[in-house]
Amino acid sequence: MSEETKRPRDFIREIVTADCAAGKNAGRVVTRFPPEPNGYLHIGHAKSICLNFGIAQEFGGVCHLRMDDSNPLTEDPEYVQAIIDDIRWLGFDWKDKLFYASDYYEKLHEFAVRLIEKGKAYVCDLSADEIREYRGTLTQPGKESPYRNRSIEENLDLFRRMRAGEFPDGSRVLRAMIDMASPNLNMRDPVLYRIIHAPHYRRGDAWCVYPTYDMTHGQSDSIEGITHSICTLEFEDHRPLYDWLIDEIGLPCHPQQIEFARLNLTYTVMSKRKLLILVDEGLVSGWDDPRVPTIRGLRRRGYTPEAIRSFCERIGVAKANSVVDIALLEHCLREDLNKRAPRVMAVLDPVRVVIENYPADRFEELDAVNNPEDEAMGSRKIPFSRVLYIERDDFREDPPKKFFRLAPGREVRLRYAYYIRCERVVKDARGEVVELRCTYDPETRGGWSPDGRKVKATIHWVSASHAVPAEVRLYEHLFTNPNPGDEADDGDFKRSLNPNSLRVLKGCQVEPSLASAAPGSIFQFERKGYFCVDTKDSAPGKPVFNRSVTLKDIWARIEQKGGAQAEE
Ligand code: ATP
Ligand code: MG
Repeated sequence: MSEETKRPRDFIREIVTADCAAGKNAGRVVTRFPPEPNGYLHIGHAKSICLNFGIAQEFGGVCHLRMDDSNPLTEDPEYVQAIIDDIRWLGFDWKDKLFYASDYYEKLHEFAVRLIEKGKAYVCDLSADEIREYRGTLTQPGKESPYRNRSIEENLDLFRRMRAGEFPDGSRVLRAMIDMASPNLNMRDPVLYRIIHAPHYRRGDAWCVYPTYDMTHGQSDSIEGITHSICTLEFEDHRPLYDWLIDEIGLPCHPQQIEFARLNLTYTVMSKRKLLILVDEGLVSGWDDPRVPTIRGLRRRGYTPEAIRSFCERIGVAKANSVVDIALLEHCLREDLNKRAPRVMAVLDPVRVVIENYPADRFEELDAVNNPEDEAMGSRKIPFSRVLYIERDDFREDPPKKFFRLAPGREVRLRYAYYIRCERVVKDARGEVVELRCTYDPETRGGWSPDGRKVKATIHWVSASHAVPAEVRLYEHLFTNPNPGDEADDGDFKRSLNPNSLRVLKGCQVEPSLASAAPGSIFQFERKGYFCVDTKDSAPGKPVFNRSVTLKDIWARIEQKGGAQAEE
């Protein structure tokens, strides 16, 4: 490894490097990614996954995958499986280190008993509302619970009976006895156990008391021998409690909790709670809707693991919260697909072109390059014949100044084919253009004229009798507001849902090589963007494509600026 690549890239890697140099944890590095299986993973999780698995890889350590499953009401094996699949797909491996916090329930219970025995935890009969009221605020100290002075024996007995199922949900909790006057609200006798009479997806009816996040998380880290417990900033205020619990329980392994800023993206919501609302209310088609930022959604949209990993690398890891422009994510995808996506021709909004001097009974095959970025991808044959389709907006009857594409009397190049000239426009009764009558120059086969005359535009096309009809889905951001749910939305993120986030085009015509393209495969439709074959709705002969990301649209920029620059 060169000096350059050895230099830590962020403050967390700096800490780990220093710890290793100092021989802390005997030089071991053990991280973990701890999702709660109550929803699908999203791009924010990918940041944490890349960080935790990345650090383990770089320091010769290991990263555990742990399901942080301590709430029977929201967790589901469907989510467990999806989490496992998604992390594998992203390209990370936990070897045999897949764990479940729910496997630690016995140990955690033992820890709780230990705290009671030490006089560091007590059973409290206040209701949830009362506990909140007693907790005080940032400016006001809390009030001690009237149940705080129960004897150790009484606490042990009540906790035993809680566990035995003698009490209804919400009637009692186990709380840590710390300090109701602490400036840190998390230290004001936090709840450690609550009664929930509900079967757990893995433990069935074995338990009716469940540990809270705080009681579960640090102790699970310690049980697994985690060295660096990396989490997001909102847990910074929980760190004193994390440390307190490990110390008071007396656990031998004390992982170091380090917090970093979570990923926020413009025009996106990321919390599982909000994503669940979108899914449950049918505002998107599911967790894998190509518009949502779940790994599933991104994958169906055409994102590659490489693009996501490169994005996570580029955004880096910092200590201050910020919002990343979604354009960067798109940029990373474009950059990756540019290298690997075969180029093809697809006409999204077709208008018929008839080449009057090309015989009706003739057709020929022309050579087309598969990827100018990668010679090894070779070339293919594309059929050419008398009747073609081109994009409706590649023709203007009355072209504006900087418009160099097809117009009456004007010549353009058909990509990989010939120069054609528009001779005549055929319209229907409503004045809509239905057909362009053109002529071609047989001398320009392949797209070059022996007399050296220039054309200013090259457009894509397909042969009408060979083309395959296709459905194409175009996407925009799911929200119109860069920060959905802010004041402009009166706090309701659903207000800025973008009504145009999905546009379905039914009458598209794509080149014949795409008829049986494999689901999930990715193409560049020349001049139109990167598209992938939908993994759910596409069928052989009836392909459905999702636009993954657009190409930069130079013409749109010129139109925006009022036309200062020539078209490419
Ligand atoms: P959400 O708030 O989206 O529902 P969560 O934090 O409740 O997410 P968990 O399953 O608990 O979801 O998250 C697992 C891990 O992923 C945690 O360590 C968490 O800190 C991290 N994580 C979650 N969201 C982000 C994000 N936006 N950026 C970075 N890391 C994240
Ligand atoms: Mg969480």
